[in-house]
Amino acid sequence: MSQPVVLLVEDEPAQRAVLSYNIKAEGFLVLEADNGEDAVHETRERLPDLIVLDWMLPKMSGLEACRRLKLREETKYIPIIMLSARSEEFDRVRGLETGADDYVVKPYSIAELIARVKVQLRRTRACAVGEQLEYGDIRLDGETHKAYRAEKEVKLGPKEFRLLSTFMEKPGRVWTREQLLDRVWGHEIYVDTRTVDVCIGRLRKSLCQFGGEDPLRTVRSVGYSLG
Ligand code: CA
Repeated sequence: MSQPVVLLVEDEPAQRAVLSYNIKAEGFLVLEADNGEDAVHETRERLPDLIVLDWMLPKMSGLEACRRLKLREETKYIPIIMLSARSEEFDRVRGLETGADDYVVKPYSIAELIARVKVQLRRTRACAVGEQLEYGDIRLDGETHKAYRAEKEVKLGPKEFRLLSTFMEKPGRVWTREQLLDRVWGHEIYVDTRTVDVCIGRLRKSLCQFGGEDPLRTVRSVGYSLG
């Protein structure tokens, strides 16, 4: 697996330097930007595996940058961790509504932030950039984030894609709803296990749209597995 690439967007030089140092120490490659505009531009040059994005930034706010990145096809799957000095519930909700995958309030502990970076990467790197996952006639392309069944493209939303890549990582393994919530939704706070069932339903429908057997198995009172 190639070295994960983290795009770090922080306008305060001292904070950026400390974060960059610590993320590199984990073996990740770090790209840096000091404003929202450059951050969005940077992703057109090279797609990172994860973005750490400060909320208050010059030129374009982190919130607006996050919104734009989550709207673009090539970048909407990239997990974004928002950093913010604001801790009011209202802002937290706004951050998550914009599509941020996690939200860390300043001042944060570096260790905690690194731990959250790892959680997000674990969720998405199942199907990392350039990797292909195959199961039966299902294929996931980690580079383009496209899914195929019998070589026909299956359109999936970001959550369904993550769900399927989690299953395809370990076919036959039975996942509980809680484990799937953790892997696919991470720290989002307004989801419960019912959300998993709804998303599984959508994934099943998409996978069976051209016919073929339902590859997902419901394991009663436990959860779900692929095959
Ligand atoms: Ca700032």
